[in-house]
Amino acid sequence: MSDNTQTNRFGNAVQTDLPDDAPRAHRPGHKLRTSNDIVDRSELESGNTQSASVHVLQDQQIELVHVEDQVGLVRLDAEQPASVPNQFTGPSYRNQSERFRFDGHKMLHHLDRVMAWQNGERFAPVHIDMGLTKFCNTACIYCYAVVQNMTKGKMIERDALLNYIEDSARLGVRSMGFIGDGEPTLNPALYDATALAGKLGIDTSMATNGLLLDMDRAHDLLANMSWIRFNLSAGTPEGFQRVHQSKAKNFDLLVEKIRALVAIKKEHNYQCTIGLQMVLIPECYDQVLAEAELGAELGVDYFVIKHCSDSEYKEIGIDYDNYATIEDVLKQAEAMSTDDYVVQAKWNKINASGETELYRNGYRKYDVCLGTPFLLQISGNGKIYPCGPFFNKERFYIGDLHDGSFYDLVNSDRYWAVHKDIAESVDVHKDCAIGCRQDYVNKFLWDIKNPPEHINFI
Ligand code: SF4
Repeated sequence: MSDNTQTNRFGNAVQTDLPDDAPRAHRPGHKLRTSNDIVDRSELESGNTQSASVHVLQDQQIELVHVEDQVGLVRLDAEQPASVPNQFTGPSYRNQSERFRFDGHKMLHHLDRVMAWQNGERFAPVHIDMGLTKFCNTACIYCYAVVQNMTKGKMIERDALLNYIEDSARLGVRSMGFIGDGEPTLNPALYDATALAGKLGIDTSMATNGLLLDMDRAHDLLANMSWIRFNLSAGTPEGFQRVHQSKAKNFDLLVEKIRALVAIKKEHNYQCTIGLQMVLIPECYDQVLAEAELGAELGVDYFVIKHCSDSEYKEIGIDYDNYATIEDVLKQAEAMSTDDYVVQAKWNKINASGETELYRNGYRKYDVCLGTPFLLQISGNGKIYPCGPFFNKERFYIGDLHDGSFYDLVNSDRYWAVHKDIAESVDVHKDCAIGCRQDYVNKFLWDIKNPPEHINFI
C-alpha cells in the first residue's frame, strides 16, 4: 500500500487505502473522495476472488457476475454492505423496540379531542388511570401510594364500578388502566369490569403485583385487556424479598403465574401484551440484569425500567443524580432486546439529573398543566381527581363514583372548574410530583398553546 494521500477538488487532504495495483482513474470523483476501495477489474476477469486487490471483509461471501463481456462483483453478506450509503435497497427497520413508545405519549392519535379542547368544548378523557382498591398485599419500598393515604379494605364497589364503565363508554372514553393507589386484583369485580369494558369497546390494561391473580379468570383478562404489566422490580427471590418486602417464596409463585399466563396467551393467540416493569431505586440496581434475563426466559413481550416518582415534598427520598451510576447496566439490559422481547429504560426521566440547570431537580419543560382533561385519574376509593399526586387535596376533588353518574359528572361545571383551577393555579415546577403521569402529554399541549417563532419552517 503506498501513500495514498490525495487532494480533493475542495483542496482538502483525503486519505484513501487503495491497493497498490488498483487502477487509478483520471477523474476518480466520488469514489476516491469517499475512500472507497476500487477493485482491480483485471483480477476479476481472471476469476481470482482470492486476490488481495479484491477486498473481501471477514465472513463476507462474494460472487462474480458475468454479463456479456463484463464481470461484476456482488457482495452477498447482508450485514457489512448495510452500512454503505447510497444503496437505496429499502429501509432496514432498526426501531422495532419503539413499538410501545414507553418513553413518550400518543396524543397525535387523538387529534379530535385536541381540536375539541382548542375550541373550548367539553370532551371525555381519552384515558383514565384508576385504582380499584386503596390497599395492597405487598409493601414495595418505592411505593408512591403510601403518600396517597392507603386505607386497608377500601375499594370501589362492584355496582359503582360497572356503572362507571357503562358511563365511560357513553362518553367516549377510549381506554382505562387499572393502575392506581392499590392492588387491582384485590377487588373481586376486576374481572367482570374488564369483560364489560371489552364488550363496550373500551381498551383496558392493568398493573399488578400478580400474586393474587385468579388464574381461573385468566381468559377474561387476556381476551379483553390490551396489556397486563407485572410490577416486578427483582429478578431473584432474595431481591424480591428486599424490594417488595414480601416472602422470598412468593417470587417463585409469581414467576409461575406469569409463565402460565404467557402460555395461555400463546396457546389461544390472545393479543394482550404481557410485560414486566421495574421501578428503579438503588436497592434493585443489582436486579436489573437478572430480571432482563428472567423476562426473556418467561417469554414476556417487554421489560421496561422506569424512574421512581417522588412527591412534591420528596417523601420517598429519591436521589435522581444517583441514576447516572447505573446507566451502563441499563444499556447492557437493553442490549438483550430481540424482535420479540423489548428491554427499554425510560431515559427521558431517568436522565433528568443530566439536564441543564434550567430543568434539573424536577423543573419541567413547560409551565402550565393542561393534560388532566385528557388523562384523568381516579383513586381506589372511587374519588375522582384530576391527577394522582393530588388525591386527597380537597380543593381539586371532583366527585365520587359511588355518588352518581360519571357521565353527568364529566359534563358538570364542577368537573371543568377543577381542570381550569389546575391550569391556572398550579406551578408545575414546585407544586407537583416529579415526573407525573401527565408529563409527556403536558409538554405536547403546552407546545401547541405556545407555538415557537416561524412555525411554517417545519
Ligand atoms: S403537572 Fe401537577 S397538576 Fe398536572 S398532573 Fe402532574 S402533578 Fe398533577
